[in-house]
Parts: sequence; C-alpha cells; structure tokens
Amino acid sequence: MSKHIIWRLCAVMLALCCALCFVGCRKSEAVTGLAVEVLDVGQSDCTLLRQGNAVWMIDTGTTTERGAVIGALYDRGIERIDCLVLTHPHEDHIGNARILLEKYEVGTLIVSPYSTDDLTYRLVLETAEKQGVTCRVASAGETYTIGDATVEILLADESAAEPNDASVILRVAYGKTAFLFTGDAELDGETALLATVAAEKLDCDFLKAGHHGSDTSSCEALLQAVTPTHVAISCGKNNDYGFPHQALLERLDAVGATYHRTDTEGTLCYVSDGEEIHFIND
Ligand SMILES: [Zn+2]
Repeated sequence: MSKHIIWRLCAVMLALCCALCFVGCRKSEAVTGLAVEVLDVGQSDCTLLRQGNAVWMIDTGTTTERGAVIGALYDRGIERIDCLVLTHPHEDHIGNARILLEKYEVGTLIVSPYSTDDLTYRLVLETAEKQGVTCRVASAGETYTIGDATVEILLADESAAEPNDASVILRVAYGKTAFLFTGDAELDGETALLATVAAEKLDCDFLKAGHHGSDTSSCEALLQAVTPTHVAISCGKNNDYGFPHQALLERLDAVGATYHRTDTEGTLCYVSDGEEIHFIND
C-alpha cells in the first residue's frame, strides 16, 4: 500500500471519528415557548412537548413506527424524557413504551386507571419498575409542569367501560394559550369530560382530535366547549378505518377550526409564544 493511500485512509478515519464525536455530544437545546409536535407515526399516536429543557411525551406510537419515534428524539438531541404519559393501554399508543423505558432516562410514567392483563402492557409496567421509574395512575385534578407550562389532568375515568374512554385527558397551559389532549376518548369519555370539568378549562386554543379523527370522537358538544383554533389529527395514510372521518372534518369546519393531518402533512409542529399558537409548516 502506497504512503499516499495510507495517509488518505488516516484522514478518512480521523474525519469519521470527529463526526461520531460531534454526534455523540449533541445535546437538546432549550426551547423558547412551548413546542408541541404531533409526530408522523402512521396509524398510531405520539406527541412531543418541550418547554425550556423539559421534555414530555404523550403516547409512544405503534411498534412498527419505532424508527420514527427514536429518530425524532435523536434529531432533537433528546436523551431524557421527564414524563411519559400513556393515555390508555392500546398497542398504537404504548407500542414503543418498553424500548423507551429501557433506552432513555424517563422521570415519571403516567398511566390510565384502566387495568388490563394485556402482555405488552404488563411488560411496560414491569420494565418501568425494573428501571426505577416512578409510575403514577392518573387522577383528575393532578397538576404537573413542563418548564413554565402547566399540565392538569382533567379526566382519567376509572369507571369507563372501554379503554378508549379511560384515556388520560390533559390540558397544557402556557401563558394565555392552552392545548387539550383527549387520547382516544369517544362519546362516553367526552360526555364525562363535559359533565365534570368547568367550561373555562375546556376552552382551549388547540385540540388534538380524539381517536385519530374518528367520527365517534370530537363530538359537537365538545367542539362547542373547546372552540379550538387549531386541530391536529394523527392518522395513517390510507388507514383501514377511513380516519379522519368526513363528518368530523365538517364539524371542524363548522366551528371554524383549522386542521392539519399527519397522513398528508407528516409531523405537525405547533409553537406557543404564550400569546398565541403558531403552526410551523416546513
Ligand atoms: Zn389509538
């Protein structure tokens, strides 16, 4: 091998080492405002919330979308999740919870009061325990913080007959703006929400459409109470369920909400500056 080739090989190796070192040193940058990103995870659900240096994740996407979830964390330099919320124990929401608990530092795990013997879910809870992660069963009225944003659990209905209706429902407030996340709650869950939560708390600027944009969620009464300016719909391209349902889209038009969909637009990014919420469309 000529000296010239050896020198070139050395230069390539050095460049590779520098590149790996740079990647390994990446750190999540503090976020100004509250960033809410509804990730494109096909026919499943995963939302990232960041304020300052704090990171929350609501649901983890389905197992087949593991690359999308891990990639999103990597791209943002996220190595720690302060709080992971599993709205309810369905695979399209908890599919990657176990791997996240194993590979990332997770501060707190918040789960629905709905109990199930489902194997995937049992393994998630066992992994949390093994990793020493604090696990809390959600209860209405509890409050948390994401940096300067406040989170209130509005409902986690332990008497719900169906897991969807036992979804952990959260309101995240930042300055004068508020975001509402209802998981996969359907008509029964939304009816319970409307019956138990004060009108001023239901009034939010942003709504993540319930149950992937199903007609059985985001009922007219809820939309009238929330009066959202922005609605995000997480659903898969050409999904088997026909989400988002046309009737829902018409209801959103009727209340004057602007909606965006992960199936046609990819990851949806919203940023609140405390005064209003901006949809960041790259
Ligand atoms: Zn779902």
